[in-house]
Amino acid sequence: MDLNEYQILTQATLLEKNGPSLLNAGLGLSGESGEVADLIKKHLFHNKWVTKEELLLEIGDVLYYVALAASSLNTTLADVAEMNIRKLWKRYPEKAQAYLDTLSETDAVNKSVYLEQ
Ligand SMILES: [Mg+2]
Repeated sequence: MDLNEYQILTQATLLEKNGPSLLNAGLGLSGESGEVADLIKKHLFHNKWVTKEELLLEIGDVLYYVALAASSLNTTLADVAEMNIRKLWKRYPEKAQAYLDTLSETDAVNKSVYLEQ
């Protein structure tokens, strides 16, 4: 599924009457991140078997609130993702270049835009 399509589909379940709220998104993101951490904690320290599906469902809940946060700031998940890649590639240019070196020349040229400021 495309990130922006997902973001649009999340709007169907929006509870806020006046559009997505950054406060709801931030609090929800914190809570759902805590649920992911709690599953990992239970697995490591409480000897509880945690399935991949359980983890993925909670990670999906995190993604929901990331989408809500992006919507509340009138931006898209794809824009957030691109900004993050640019930030990471600026921080780790040698790793980005090593990745680009594995690609075909055309793909490398297309993806090298993320190295630009
Ligand atoms: Mg959850």
